[in-house]
Amino acid sequence: MWHCIPSTVKVGGHTYTVQRRIWEERDDVDGQTLHRLRLIRLDGRDPDPRDTLVHEILHVIDYVYNAGQLDEGTVRRLGEGIYQVLRDNPVWVRSFLPKARRS
Ligand SMILES: [Zn+2]
Repeated sequence: MWHCIPSTVKVGGHTYTVQRRIWEERDDVDGQTLHRLRLIRLDGRDPDPRDTLVHEILHVIDYVYNAGQLDEGTVRRLGEGIYQVLRDNPVWVRSFLPKARRS
């Protein structure tokens, strides 16, 4: 599913670069967001990192619009919920795309 992962994501007035990364020293990191560098890193070993990208984007939204007030558990729960809604409602999600890309 890496072909679905964008190289950049825009949130507010910021553009975050999305990178694929392997954490050799750690096995418990699926993703990481570095706000000062406007960088989202995803575990390159994950065959489908779309849920992790939703989670990291939620961290960015929280940082840009909410002064980073959400705790990790809240980001995790909301991220899972948003991922499920996006995944299970493809017709509605496609309605946000420009007409030429809806098929
Ligand atoms: Zn997190």
